[in-house]
Amino acid sequence: MSGFGFTISATDGKARTGVIDTPRGAIRTPAFMPVGTAGTVKAMLPESVRATGADILLGNTYHLMLRPTAERIDRLGGLHRFMNWERPILTDSGGFQVMSLSELRKMTEEGVTFRSHVDGSKHFLSPERSMEIQRLLGSDIVMCFDECPALPATEDRVAESMRLSMRWARRSKEAFGDRPGHALFGIQQGGVTRELREESAEALTGIGFDGYAVGGLAVGEGQEAMFGVLDYAPGMLPADKPRYLMGVGKPDDIVGAVQRGIDMMDCVLPSRSGRTGQLFTRRGVVNIKNARHADDPRPLDEHCSCPACRSYSRAYLHHVFRAGEIISSMLLTWHNLHYFQELMAGLRGAIAAGRLDAFVAEFHARRAEGDIEPL
Ligand SMILES: [Zn+2]
Repeated sequence: MSGFGFTISATDGKARTGVIDTPRGAIRTPAFMPVGTAGTVKAMLPESVRATGADILLGNTYHLMLRPTAERIDRLGGLHRFMNWERPILTDSGGFQVMSLSELRKMTEEGVTFRSHVDGSKHFLSPERSMEIQRLLGSDIVMCFDECPALPATEDRVAESMRLSMRWARRSKEAFGDRPGHALFGIQQGGVTRELREESAEALTGIGFDGYAVGGLAVGEGQEAMFGVLDYAPGMLPADKPRYLMGVGKPDDIVGAVQRGIDMMDCVLPSRSGRTGQLFTRRGVVNIKNARHADDPRPLDEHCSCPACRSYSRAYLHHVFRAGEIISSMLLTWHNLHYFQELMAGLRGAIAAGRLDAFVAEFHARRAEGDIEPL
């Protein structure tokens, strides 16, 4: 694992701040990873994503294996060069999206056969094939191939699925092999059952990984149930390795997860919401398509330093959104990504200063105020 390491520089309660070192650059934690599903964070140039403060992007194995294919990306020099992002990339295993997006799935102990949602072509994913695809992409942080049942599911179903995922985790580790400078993360499963989470954590730490994800959350269980699991699950994983909460989340989910000891997160929310006119601000969510903004010359957030807030009015953002102009997606996505990264920087600073509780209290107080009064 030379060239890849994790250093915790400060803790505050269960929260930690530090740095994951990789040959492609440092990742400051807690880190939020924007999602570049198909080789692009939609509506953003890579240098713009970097300018928001992102140290790492997430790429989706499922989308990239179908189009343009991992073999083609490999021939073209790997995903970093292909998409012009030279910093670290984490790729998911494809497992979750096969379950949620593909058609006509058939799952066996060996792996999953499915049809592409793009053109109906037939494909097979297994721990070995997922490791091969993530290697062809050139991913810096590779995720184990796992299976995650949608909640609610019976405890028997969750247990059966978790044990299959643990067998697949062992096969993933064997197929990954020894790749200096690249990391392999295991994924804890077990739904909302503490005993199953414990069993999963023991299985994973027995195999040994460079980092550990808390999987199977943010799949419809609600924030209360998710925080209930996060109250104990991260503590079952090795304290000296990064802990990654997959697919989270809303700003208050992120804050609550960091308080509970999570170091990394990813979500399509800031970019997807940017395209649908939902903006995240310190004072909560603003819906830019609302008529109240049509004549408003004020910036979306006067304290935000992103291009959308620095150079444009609410009235302009409202207009270009309503007119379906491409710049709308560009500006609104930029603002949202900037807000998420600023939140992460605030969390990191607060943990380092030992004032996380005060930061979180301020975060909630500001949101409770709501948006500025209409003119
Ligand atoms: Zn802004």
